[in-house]
Amino acid sequence: MRLELESLLALADERVLERGKTLFLRGAVLEAARSRNRLQARVQGSAPFPYRVEIDLNKGEWRCSCPYTWGPVCKHLVAVAFAALEAPEIFARKKLGRSTPVNLKPLLELSDDELLRFLWQLAEERPELMEEFAYNLMQRYE
Ligand SMILES: [Zn+2]
Repeated sequence: MRLELESLLALADERVLERGKTLFLRGAVLEAARSRNRLQARVQGSAPFPYRVEIDLNKGEWRCSCPYTWGPVCKHLVAVAFAALEAPEIFARKKLGRSTPVNLKPLLELSDDELLRFLWQLAEERPELMEEFAYNLMQRYE
């Protein structure tokens, strides 16, 4: 199903729309690439690392790596849609470069208890991430 950015924006509730627009205006859309109808970007939200956003207009699919699940469209997707509509020039590249290394320093400052609690929460919210993590860890010992 072909998707228009305007219809994607129409799916967001008013507050999400407002926040996404603010993110875009603040320059939170850090890296953006467009290849035909596939948009990719990294968006700096409140987390210490940017979220990855992908919108496929041909397939009518989109996703964001943030944990937002309260509606079909999060503020990061809104920010990218706004960017694509209002500043298409930032999507000049065809592909995103390799992921910039994540800054893990804030994690090192946590106590063991806090870190464990953080990981449990992450495991509950993002089981696929923990699977990936465990998989990568196992690869190192093979
Ligand atoms: Zn998001």
